[in-house]
This record gives sequence, C-alpha cells and structure tokens, in this order.
Amino acid sequence: MTDTGSTQEQDPVEPVAAPAADTGDEVSDEAVVAPASTDIDPAAAAERAALLDGVWDVVVVGAGPAGSSAAYAAATRGRRVLLLDKAEHPRYKTCGGGIIGPSRDSLPADFKLPLQDRISAVTFALNGKWTRTRRSKRMLFGVVNRDEFDLRLVQAAEQAGAVLVTGVTATGVEQQGGDSRTVFVTLAGGGRVEARAVVGADGSASRIGRHVGVSFDQIDLGLEAEIPVPESVSREWAGRIHLDWGPLPGSYGWVFPKTDSGTLTVGVISARGDGERTKQYLADYIRRLGLSGFTPLVESGHLTRCRAEDSPLSRGRVLVAGDAAGLLEPWTREGISYALRSGRLAGEWAVQVAEANGAADVRRQALNYSFAIKAGLGVEMRAGKIMLASFEKRPQMFHAAVSLITPAWRAFARTTQGHTTFAQLMRDHRAARKLASVAGR
Ligand SMILES: Cc1cc2nc3c(=O)[nH]c(=O)nc-3n(C[C@H](O)[C@H](O)[C@H](O)COP(=O)(O)OP(=O)(O)OC[C@H]3O[C@@H](n4cnc5c(N)ncnc54)[C@H](O)[C@@H]3O)c2cc1C
Repeated sequence: MTDTGSTQEQDPVEPVAAPAADTGDEVSDEAVVAPASTDIDPAAAAERAALLDGVWDVVVVGAGPAGSSAAYAAATRGRRVLLLDKAEHPRYKTCGGGIIGPSRDSLPADFKLPLQDRISAVTFALNGKWTRTRRSKRMLFGVVNRDEFDLRLVQAAEQAGAVLVTGVTATGVEQQGGDSRTVFVTLAGGGRVEARAVVGADGSASRIGRHVGVSFDQIDLGLEAEIPVPESVSREWAGRIHLDWGPLPGSYGWVFPKTDSGTLTVGVISARGDGERTKQYLADYIRRLGLSGFTPLVESGHLTRCRAEDSPLSRGRVLVAGDAAGLLEPWTREGISYALRSGRLAGEWAVQVAEANGAADVRRQALNYSFAIKAGLGVEMRAGKIMLASFEKRPQMFHAAVSLITPAWRAFARTTQGHTTFAQLMRDHRAARKLASVAGR
C-alpha cells in the first residue's frame, strides 16, 4: 500500500481530556487544526505579524521533538530561526513517552530529562498468557510525560536563539524553484513567512510532508489511556513495563508507568483499518491487567506512518524530519529517537541549504541530508520492517525468545539501552538473522 498523503487524510484527535477513545478513523485532520488567527484580537495579530516579518534563515514548522531539535541545531549555528507550532506548549501528545538510549543520546547539551520513572524490568505476555518478567541490573530506558519533555525541548531551542511562535497553523509551502533564493510557508487565516530554508516537522499528518510528496507503506493506529492509580498500584508498577504481543497481526500493547505523577499509560497499536478490534484489544488488555476499575484521565488515538523506501526527504529548499517524513521504527513504532536524530540533521543541513549558492547547490545540500538519513535511520528502518514482517507471522517465537532465551533478552535490553540496534544485531548475529527468517516463513 502506498499512501501519498495527498488526499484528505482521516486523522486523529489530540484531546486534552476526552472520555471516549477515538479510533482515529472518523475525525479529519482539518478538525484538529489549531485555533487559526481568525478570532484573535487585532493587536495580537499585528504583533504576531511583526514578529513573523522579514526573511528567516530557517523556518521550522512543528515544535515536537523533531522540530525543536532542528531549531536547536540551526540556532546554535548562529542562524535566524523561527519555530512555529499550531499548539501552545505544554500540550498533550498521545505517546508512551519511552525514552530509549538513542533518544537520550540525541538531546541538546545539558538537557535535563524530566523522567517519570526509570525502567529496569519488563513483563512479557503473549495475548495475556505465558507471562514472564525479566529484570536488568542496569536501567533499560526512561519514561517521560510528553507535555513536559516537549516543553523542555522547545525551551532549549529558544535558549539557543530560536524564536518560537505558537497558535500558528502552517497550510503549505510556496516555492518557485529555479534560482529563487527564498520560499514561503503559508499560514491559516492568511499571511505567509519567508525563509531561505524550511524544515517540515509537523507530525504524522504533515502539511509540509504533503508538499514534499512523502509517501508511506505502513500506517498503524495507536490507542492510549492515561490511567491515574492509587499509590499502592503505582508502587507495584514502579520501574517495570508490561509488553503484550497482541491478537491482531503485528499488534502489541504496553503499560508505561508514570510513577511521579501516579498514572499508568496503557496503549495498543495495530495496523490501521480495524479500529473496532484495536479498540476492543485495548479494552480487553486494560481489563486483564485489572485496571478497568480506574477512570482514565485521557483517552486518545493517533496514526503512525512509516515512509516508503523511495519516499522523498526534501523538495527544493524544504526538508522533512520525524513523523512528517515517516521516520519511525516499524516494529516498535518508536519515533522519538527518530525525530530527535532526523531533526538535528535537518537543522544542520537546512543551514547549508539556506547558504547555498544557486539551485544546483541547494539540490546538493538537500541530497546530502537525504543520504545522511538513508545511511542511518533508513538502514534501521529496513531491519525494523524485516522484524515486523516476521513478528506478524510468529509472535509466539518472539515471545519465547525474549522471555525465555537469555541472549535474546540481553539483545532486547541492549537495544533499548542504545548499545546496539536491530540492524546491527542482524548484521553481527547469525541467530538474529535466523530468528527473523524462520519466523518470517
Ligand atoms: C500511541 C503512541 C505511542 C507512542 N509511544 C512512543 C514511545 O513510547 N516512545 C517513542 O519513542 N515514540 C512513541 N510514539 C511515536 C512518537 O510519539 C512520535 O514518533 C514522535 O512524537 C514524533 O515527533 P515529531 O516531532 O516528528 O512529531 P510530533 O511530536 O507529532 O510533533 C509535531 C508538532 O507539529 C505541530 N503541528 C502539526 N501540524 C501543524 C501545522 N500544520 N502547523 C504548525 N504546527 C503543526 C503539532 O502541534 C506538534 O507540536 C508513539 C506514538 C503513538 C501514536
């Protein structure tokens, strides 16, 4: 399946506090576009227009992990950087908030992770059965609440010199091509911003990605519930996550404890197209965990999209990063490290695009960005797709491996810690290649 993203995408809501789970199938992205500048007061509008004025070296659209990283990277190089977001931070984001080693290693210098918990144990289950807990002497990864984490990333970009403007929704890009030295980001409610380079980091329903022509070959629906629990329950979960290999092909569920705030994030993910069964899986999972007696604070859904291998990463003076580019680990659907890493590269190469000498040089710099992504994250994604294809066919083999075979558990643990990657495991270990190929038959 190839989805060019050019048609009206059916996309998710990002509720602040919604009672019912959204399957992500009924609500168009148009409905979640943030308050456009139509009903703001004229003085504020004039102030904002003045702020947006002039030619920026780099305009970054979207202030999630990818956009903040891009803005930070470009601003630390002394360039004039504008960071736009339709939302006001802190804002809710549907996400487990798992910060694996590669995410930690890609944060700005001196960044203080607002950790809710440090994970050192995993309880694995196969659709509720064959439960086994494995423990590590060392921390595996950390968990954060995305509103706090993303706010700190935005602040780091601002401290580096980027100018943040929120409540502004980008609708597209106008660029002439040829030797034109600038491009325009168009805004909802009229108005546009001029830049020498643009980074599109506006998430999985990206407007900028649509302009670039990003295409996807894997789309999944993630559903989550933020469940406040009493201290006695919270204590049971401290330092431990739960992973359940699910009943739908390629699906799994998770519990990530947000111990400091006394909540559990319980979620499931599965291929898009069967919203009702995905919703049922989440309900069953919550019930099996004994958590259905607690009322969720937030229930939400969001689509994740993985890029097709030949999908573009740039067009003219525009680069895309993070979810906007479809950069996401295909098996686990982990995306924060992909967003941080691609965002930083996009910020660095956007500076080169901004300073390029003529159209050929713009093309060269943009291609350099594409090469950097494909050589790193592209290789990782290819390995993740092999893992997913095998996991879809034989989840029981994956379960047996990680829960019973110590070297496989260690490989899993070392991957979350950032000491190795799925691609490296497949390169270096015949057993990993064999597991993937046997399971995939
Ligand atoms: C259910 C679920 C659980 C997940 N759990 C994890 C996990 O535990 N760990 C992990 O690593 N990954 C996880 N992910 C993936 C992760 O959330 C994303 O990959 C990550 O947020 C991507 O970051 P980003 O900066 O590219 O996009 P986002 O974080 O989506 O940020 C995009 C920003 O752009 C803004 N924006 C959007 N449109 C516009 C517009 N038109 N104009 C202006 N601004 C705009 C938005 O307001 C937002 O602030 C999960 C995903 C789902 C769906």
